[in-house]
Amino acid sequence: MIDFKLFQHPQRYIANEWNVVKKPHDKHIPICLCYPDLYEIGMCNLGLRIIYSILNEFNDVVCERAFLPGEDLCGFLAQNNQKLFSLETKLSLDKFEVLGFNFNYELNFINFLYMLHLSGIPLACRERKDLIVLGGGIANPEPLAEFVDVFYLGEFEAGAEAFIGVLRKYKDKKERLEALSGIDGFYVPSCYSVELKNGKYGFTKIYNYANFPIKKTHVKDLNESPYPLKWLTPHTQIVHDRVPIEIARGCPNQCTFCQARATYYPYREKKVSRICQIIEEIYKNSGYENFSLLSLSSSDHSQIEELIDALMAGFKQKRIGLALPSLRVDDLMGRLYPKLHLLRKTSLTVAVETANDHLRGQLGKKIDINKLFEAAKIIHSLNLKHIKLYFMIGFEEETEDDLTAIGRFLEKLNRETRMALNVSINVFVPKPFSLWEGAGMNEEATLLNKISIVKNSLPRRRSINITTAHVQRSILEAIISRADKGFSSVILEVFKASLNRRDLASNWQLWLEVMRKNNIDHRMYLKPVTENFPWSFINTGNSSCNLNHS
Ligand code: SF4
Repeated sequence: MIDFKLFQHPQRYIANEWNVVKKPHDKHIPICLCYPDLYEIGMCNLGLRIIYSILNEFNDVVCERAFLPGEDLCGFLAQNNQKLFSLETKLSLDKFEVLGFNFNYELNFINFLYMLHLSGIPLACRERKDLIVLGGGIANPEPLAEFVDVFYLGEFEAGAEAFIGVLRKYKDKKERLEALSGIDGFYVPSCYSVELKNGKYGFTKIYNYANFPIKKTHVKDLNESPYPLKWLTPHTQIVHDRVPIEIARGCPNQCTFCQARATYYPYREKKVSRICQIIEEIYKNSGYENFSLLSLSSSDHSQIEELIDALMAGFKQKRIGLALPSLRVDDLMGRLYPKLHLLRKTSLTVAVETANDHLRGQLGKKIDINKLFEAAKIIHSLNLKHIKLYFMIGFEEETEDDLTAIGRFLEKLNRETRMALNVSINVFVPKPFSLWEGAGMNEEATLLNKISIVKNSLPRRRSINITTAHVQRSILEAIISRADKGFSSVILEVFKASLNRRDLASNWQLWLEVMRKNNIDHRMYLKPVTENFPWSFINTGNSSCNLNHS
C-alpha cells in the first residue's frame, strides 16, 4: 500500500469523496474511466461524471476512475515497478475489462500512452490480449487508431445500454469488438482500411458486419437523460470548483471556426423545471453552493429569463452563487445581470472574437458591440469590476487594421465603462467538423507577428490584462487534430523520447524533430484542404460526409 502522505496533494489519491461509488468486483464487469491529466483537471470534466454515474447505475457493472498522478508519484511508480491504480479500490488498471479514456484535448495524447505504460499495458492494440481500451470525447480519432481498440463517437448516454449489453453477452475481446463495430457510434479502427491516393482518402471496411460510415449518436431528449445528481465532492480544490448545470446542448448559431457546435449537434434544451430539480438535488447531496449554467450559448435558451426567475425564487434564501458564462451580448444581458446579481457573485465573459464588425460578420458571430458597452455600464453599476474578453486572431482575411482595432476597442471599453478587462487572445485553429475545417492556418512567424501587432496596439494600463495563446502549442494542436493514421508513429516516438523527461512531451522542437525523422513536413497540416479529410468517414448528421469508399 502506497503512503500517499509522502506525495504532493495526497487528497488527489484518496477518493473518499462524498457520493463516491464503491462496489465489489466479484460478478461485476469492471470498467475504469481514465482521464489523461491530473485529478484537479479531470474532475472538472462533466462527461466523466455523467458516464461514471450512468455506468454505476448498472447492477452488474462497477465503474471506477483513474487520473494521471503528479510527477512525484509517477516517478515512484516507475522506479518501484508498481502499477497505476484506480482511485476507488486502488486496483491496477490492467485488472479491468475496459479502460475508457477521455481525449478531449489533443496535447494529452502523450499522457494517455504514459498512463498505459505506467500500468504495464502494451500500447498497441494488436499487442493487448483481453483488455479493451475505449476512447471518447474526440473529433478525429485517426491519430490514435493504433492505440485504441474502439472509439465511441457521440454522446455516451445514447450508447451505454448497447455497450454494456455487448460486454455481458460476449467475453472474448474479438467478439466484443465485432459486435460493437455494428452499433451506431462505435468505431473499431481494425475493421477498416484507409488509403491515401492523390491527396484523397479512400475508406474501405474490411468486415461486412462493421458499420460504414460511422454515425455519431446523440441523446434525443435531454430532460430524460441522466445527470449525476449524487455529485462527487472532492476533498481538494479542483480547477473549476463549481457545479456545471447543463441547460442546453449544442448551439443554434453558426460561427465558422467553431468545432463545439458540430461536436454537440443538434441543439437541444432542458426544461426549466428539470434544471431547477437538478440544482435542488445536487445542492442537497453535495453541499456545493456555486453553480454555473452550462451551455454553448446560454442566451439562446428559449426560457432563459423564466429560468433565472425560477432560480431566484427557489434559491434566493440559500444565497447560492450562479455564473452564466456564455451569454451573448444583446438586450438580454441588461435584463439578466441585475437579477443574477441578487444571487451572489456573477461574472461577465464575452467572446468578441474580433474588434472589426465586418470580419466578425464573416465569422458568423452575432454580437452587437454597442450592446456590450451598454451591458458593461449596467454591470459596473452593480459593483462588478471585471469583464473577461476573448479574441481570436490568425484568419486569412485579417488585415493589420483588424489587429490594431483590438487595442482601440479595449481602450474605449476600459475608458467608457471603467471596468478592468482581462483579455485573452487566442489563435484560430481549423478544427475537424467546424465549418472552416478545410481552411489553412497561419504559420508560426505570421502568428507571432500578428500577436505583437495586437500587443503594440494596447494602451499601457494596469486595468487591462492580456494573455496570449502559445503559438507553437496551437500549431501542434492543429497538426494532431487534423492528422491521419500515419501520425501515430510520431505520437509514439514523442512519447518514448519524453519517457524520462515528461516536460518534453509538449516541446515543439522535439515534435518537429520526430516529424522530420518520419518524413513529415508539418506545414502540410496547415495548408487549406480541398479534398476530403482523414475524418471524412464519420457522419455527424450535421454535414454530408465526403466519402470515397467501397
Ligand atoms: S462560437 Fe459559440 S455561439 Fe458560435 S457556434 Fe460556437 S458555440 Fe455557438
